[in-house]
Amino acid sequence: MNIENKINDLLNKLTLDEKISMIHGNGLFKTASVERLGIPSLHMADGPMGVRNEFENDSWVTIGNNDDFVTYLPCTSALASTWNKDLAYMAGEVLGEETRGRKKDMILAPGINIKRSPLCGRNFEYMSEDPFLTGEMAVPLIKGIQNFDVSACVKHFALNNQETERLWVNVDVSDRALREIYLPAFEKCVKEGKTHSLMGAYNLYKNEHCCESEKLLKDILRNEWGFDGVVVSDWGAVHNTEKVAKSGLDIEMSVTNNFDEYFMAEPLKKAILNGEISEDLIDEKIKNILRVMYKLNMLENSQRKSGTYNSFDNQQKTLEIARESVVLLKNENNILPLKQEKVKKVLVIGDNANRVHSYGGCSAEIKALYEICPLLGIKQLLGGNTEVTFAQGYIANDFEKENSDLNWQATSLENGGGSTKAKEQASESLLNLQEKLRNEALSLAKDFDNIIFIGGQNHLQDLEGHDRPDMKLPYAQDTLIEQLLDINKNTVIVLLSGSPVEMPWINKANNLIWCWYAGMQGGTALAEVIFGKTNPSGKIPETFIINHNDCPAHFIGEFPGGKEVKYKEDIFVGYRYYDKNNTKVLFPFGYGLSYTNFKFDNLKIDNLQDSINIYLDVTNVGNFNGKEVIQVYIGKKDSNITRALKELKAFEKCSLNINESKNITLNIPKKNLAYYDEDKKQFIIEKGKYEIYIGNCIDNILLTGNITV
Ligand code: BGC
Repeated sequence: MNIENKINDLLNKLTLDEKISMIHGNGLFKTASVERLGIPSLHMADGPMGVRNEFENDSWVTIGNNDDFVTYLPCTSALASTWNKDLAYMAGEVLGEETRGRKKDMILAPGINIKRSPLCGRNFEYMSEDPFLTGEMAVPLIKGIQNFDVSACVKHFALNNQETERLWVNVDVSDRALREIYLPAFEKCVKEGKTHSLMGAYNLYKNEHCCESEKLLKDILRNEWGFDGVVVSDWGAVHNTEKVAKSGLDIEMSVTNNFDEYFMAEPLKKAILNGEISEDLIDEKIKNILRVMYKLNMLENSQRKSGTYNSFDNQQKTLEIARESVVLLKNENNILPLKQEKVKKVLVIGDNANRVHSYGGCSAEIKALYEICPLLGIKQLLGGNTEVTFAQGYIANDFEKENSDLNWQATSLENGGGSTKAKEQASESLLNLQEKLRNEALSLAKDFDNIIFIGGQNHLQDLEGHDRPDMKLPYAQDTLIEQLLDINKNTVIVLLSGSPVEMPWINKANNLIWCWYAGMQGGTALAEVIFGKTNPSGKIPETFIINHNDCPAHFIGEFPGGKEVKYKEDIFVGYRYYDKNNTKVLFPFGYGLSYTNFKFDNLKIDNLQDSINIYLDVTNVGNFNGKEVIQVYIGKKDSNITRALKELKAFEKCSLNINESKNITLNIPKKNLAYYDEDKKQFIIEKGKYEIYIGNCIDNILLTGNITV
């Protein structure tokens, strides 16, 4: 019997009660099983950086055993910053293997919402401001995950671009921006990544909650894209029984334990029995669930992969990813890398040097088996011949101890979905303490030639349920950095953060390294970059602007807005705006330095029937083995429509030893040149000439060419 017949067969045997039990949570992270027919529960777990710890079935109390430690992966922004699709696949495999190893069926990841503003609190869980980069990195990630008989759950579909009022905010966006910016990565995850599942977002679109939106879930996702997997609601994102029954949503999850009262539980059963809702609608949902269960080998005692977690292999994989996620943003006079043999003593300053981050970030929190903080990474690398002195430099308000054993998520549906953790206390005693720590660090600094400052943000700024008010570095770090640079302009500045920050001191600084939350081996990777054991090759997957007022979402559109947020900046999100308007930025999209230099030449373009082939040679002309990202942007100067000057259409990371040269081929399907025509309601490829720009970031174009379509 083929699978669809088997599904129908099972469906016919299910009673209404059994069906209802399969389409809503009967635990905080699972649905009910139907033992009689051999249908197991569907077990889920957060989240992007690893498999989250175990909770009690019906309360947000962590079980607390020591058997749920896991491998902690670099955050999604860090992964995107590698621009390495093989590493994305590798990250997926780690996540998938551990999801299965922890006996789960679905990992609630990846997060792929577009970074519309740098202030969104969950940006660290997302990839980029660019839909192409997001989609290209998400597809291998999903394939890696699903290689282990578990499902990815791509979230949050759709338009979940802010945390303020996340449960109730209605997004007003043009069809063109929706189609060109906010949906393409999701579409790619469905069509190319073949994700088995997506998560419906909390927010509203066209005044309907995304989980109840027929437009999003039926018209676009199911009918247009042909998705036949499972749509799970975000936790508490369903509000209406009739609407959700008719939408394409399959499983309702929430944060409360009144499971039978969920909209898709007893209320739905009643409505069916009253004849208000047709049972056929439920059958569709059951079919989607059973289809995914078949694909995951969950039925008929099939051979299913067993997975594992915390393997040494997985830990090493996080290191490989972390290494390529580090971005060298400034290196004047080639101060970096520091030479280990020449550094007899070094002063490390900054709370982030000594902080572990894995346990923060709300639903993305990870119970990491271990986490190597930067200070540990540096000491491990330097060993016994170098004296490492540490000064905290500033204090981060520590994570408020929760009053109860309950995780914050227990009350996450209150206050529009806001988290209470983020409140900054600026009490006088705290300010005094900041000053004391700063002065201690500054007075030590006078005695050191080698100083490494490691600051940035933590998960009190980068977190769920909260957007930042601005891009300023917290805890008076700007003052500390300015004064450190006055003492020693070669101070190595490292910022570790989930989202870009203002850098008022940037012109004074000779060097700057950017790290995201880089997983359990993040400190090792950073130390390797500082001391030249790893040549940095990360490229920022979003524009680092001077301050948030430069972001079009803020001054053309609205952010965070009120109950209604107008995306009036339209398609001009991120570099699409800055590039066109010549906005002065701190660091452009795709930017990142290396300890070596690369030469791009011998460009050749083949204009094929349905696609464009681009050939070029890339040579390592410096003194370090290294990796470079070849970025291809395309524009159309003589266009009849409003367009970005350039848009990313292809990229490839390549590894080159000193003096080595490689011929690179990139292929761009012509359909990717299309824009969305709102009147015709379809993508159209404009005829005429297109300019092709090839560089190593959007602002450093090294080769150009053109084609006529
Ligand atoms: C988040 C989701 C997460 C879910 C389950 C929600 O608060 O928005 O991303 O997967 O909780 O923890």
